[in-house]
Amino acid sequence: MNIDDIRSDILKCTKCELCKTKTKYVIGEGNSNAKIMFIGEAPGANEDLQGRPFVGRAGQIFDDLLKSINIKREDIYICNILKCRPPGNRSPLPTEIEQCTSYLNQQIEAIKPKVICPMGNFAVGFVMKKFGAADTIQGISKLHGKVFHIRNLFDDIIVIPLYHPAVATYNPYMKEILQKDIKVLEKY
Ligand code: URA
Repeated sequence: MNIDDIRSDILKCTKCELCKTKTKYVIGEGNSNAKIMFIGEAPGANEDLQGRPFVGRAGQIFDDLLKSINIKREDIYICNILKCRPPGNRSPLPTEIEQCTSYLNQQIEAIKPKVICPMGNFAVGFVMKKFGAADTIQGISKLHGKVFHIRNLFDDIIVIPLYHPAVATYNPYMKEILQKDIKVLEKY
């Protein structure tokens, strides 16, 4: 399935209740041949209005981080675990994650990134489980900035967990940590 087919499927999605409360689906964007894929949690208010990922305050921090290592949005692909905004920005529910991540799996399959950077606990948990590294799942405070080379029968991929950029909106000290962690990507 290519990225356009996945997009049209998501635009018709009614798998969970979030489709009723969202304004726009936030599918993901960037380079469909990207080597690096970033995965966030779920759209917030700005993303919901614009239908684009990471365009609010967390998005501004994300853009600054990319800029600090000379990467442009057009070079990477960015999307979320959930394609619709949970009301009031509550955390995704396990059933929503289960239903929605069939799309994320298709996006990963279509883009075939060499490196995946899940941002925040929900994305890290999903990615580690998907690639058979569930035994590695610990809090993001233990995993951030580490490089996991995952090789198994089906996959050969590098996973670099990062803090969610939103952490720096309420704790500016975290921006330094995010900045240090993202430098790891320069190598790739
Ligand atoms: N936070 C996320 O996880 N994703 C977005 O798109 C915006 C904020």
